[in-house]
Amino acid sequence: MEARRALIRRAVNACCSKQGFNYIDGKRCEPTEPKQPIKVIEPATGLLLCSFPSSGERDVANAVASSKRAFAQWSQTSCVDRGRILMKAGSKIRDNLDFLAHLEVKDNGKPIWEARVDILSCADAFEYFGGVIPSIAGQYIPVEGDSFALISREPLGVVAGIGAWNFPLQTCTWKVAPALACGNTFVYKPSPLTPMTALALADILVEVGVPKGAYNVIQGDGDTGSLLCYHPDVAKVSFTGSVSTGAKVMAAAAAGIKKVTLELGGKSPLIIFEDADLKNAVKATLMANFLTQGEVCSNGTRVFVQKGIYKEFLKNLIEATNKLKIGDPFDEDTTVGATITKEHAEKVLSYIESAKSEGATVECGGERCLLPSPNDGGYYLSPCVLTSCTDDMKVVKEEVFGSVLSLLTFSEEDEVITRANATNFGLAGGVFTKDIQRAFRVVKRIQAGTLWINTYNLYPPFLPFGGYKQSGLGRENGTAVLEQYTQTKTVYVEGGDVDCGPLYQE
Ligand code: NDP
Repeated sequence: MEARRALIRRAVNACCSKQGFNYIDGKRCEPTEPKQPIKVIEPATGLLLCSFPSSGERDVANAVASSKRAFAQWSQTSCVDRGRILMKAGSKIRDNLDFLAHLEVKDNGKPIWEARVDILSCADAFEYFGGVIPSIAGQYIPVEGDSFALISREPLGVVAGIGAWNFPLQTCTWKVAPALACGNTFVYKPSPLTPMTALALADILVEVGVPKGAYNVIQGDGDTGSLLCYHPDVAKVSFTGSVSTGAKVMAAAAAGIKKVTLELGGKSPLIIFEDADLKNAVKATLMANFLTQGEVCSNGTRVFVQKGIYKEFLKNLIEATNKLKIGDPFDEDTTVGATITKEHAEKVLSYIESAKSEGATVECGGERCLLPSPNDGGYYLSPCVLTSCTDDMKVVKEEVFGSVLSLLTFSEEDEVITRANATNFGLAGGVFTKDIQRAFRVVKRIQAGTLWINTYNLYPPFLPFGGYKQSGLGRENGTAVLEQYTQTKTVYVEGGDVDCGPLYQE
């Protein structure tokens, strides 16, 4: 076991220290026109993981040109062959599970058990889209007489993907797997905080038979992302990140009349009624708030608890929260890993300070925990439960993107629905109750793209995911995403003579 771990550690270190963090035309390469250096810090230790230059206009153009060349071949590959290749990618990801999970932890700082779950869901995505794509057929529509129309869905061309840092490979895979399945090619720009696993994926895709250039990776900061969005040969942009950057991406796409998918932030409600199964409600509240250090877009951070069970729920929640184990994310029993950066940790702590100044009570957590060397440079925050919260507090209104849960009480169903919907976000939500009619009434009225009844934060790639309101545009996953990576072509076939009325005289 120890020997295997050492082997994986060596492979991970080799991957991070190898030169060339872009991946174009089937190989890792340096930018030809290096811009400002990016230093990637390992969240678990605070030490330098790797550094590379940001990519500028010429390198973005090279990546897009390479994907454009590959499009000619990949888009003409039969859907069965594309599907088979993507299924192989899924298996290859499973074969490399531990390597990819360790690489993800190096980049992101999340606990290793969670990273394994994320990586397996990436394998699921390739297998699902590989399996589903051969069954996507067009339509034959009779028109009149012997005339008919053929409706087909065609790929868009080169798609650009831009990702956030909280689920680095999953964010990438949710875009790349369906886009490739539909016959597009792809240029992906990871977050500069987490550049590694999207790069490792490139090797896997080439190994299983995706043509070189069909998936390229270009590293860089927001400027690189912007260059990609404005590139005239990019047909569509699929973005995951904050609302403010999403608006910029949408403006860039608008300038070129490009299609766009936006997966943005959230401030989702989790509503727990008095008749709920208390233990399950507590478990789901942990899942809704404390996975990946709370850095999860769909988190149910506004936890509304009906007054009759509030005291008991709070007691159980605090007990469960205090049992979470903050530690080195590579330890198998760690449940709370390292915050992505010092700056982000400070932002999360500042939300807790603002909550206190507005009258909230910290029931537990909300502090930096110092771990022994080599983790003493990491930012480990204890999961925080806030009570005495009101709907107008900053911490209750804004996305914190950290382990900070605001507990709120309610009396009536109508009241809690109104309060749950009083936000510009609409990514997700949850309801706990044993009353099935109430559960359906509530989810019908909550304005959000994904709702869970009696669970939280589960999103297998065969279910559509995306936001209402400012949480996004378009959907990822499920068959719904295939619409987002294809365009409809209508072919009208005349079955007889052309009838042009009085226009033509014999
Ligand atoms: P950001 O919006 O700051 O950045 C996202 C990506 O966009 C980064 O790669 C960033 O590079 C890049 N970028 C910045 N400016 C531009 C630009 N003008 N044009 C193109 N790209 C640009 O988000 P974070 O990375 O901080 O991620 C956190 C946010 O993502 C949270 O709001 C969270 O809710 C959301 N999110 C949503 C998910 C969903 O599925 N709905 C899933 C995961 C996260 P750089 O870092 O250099 O600025």
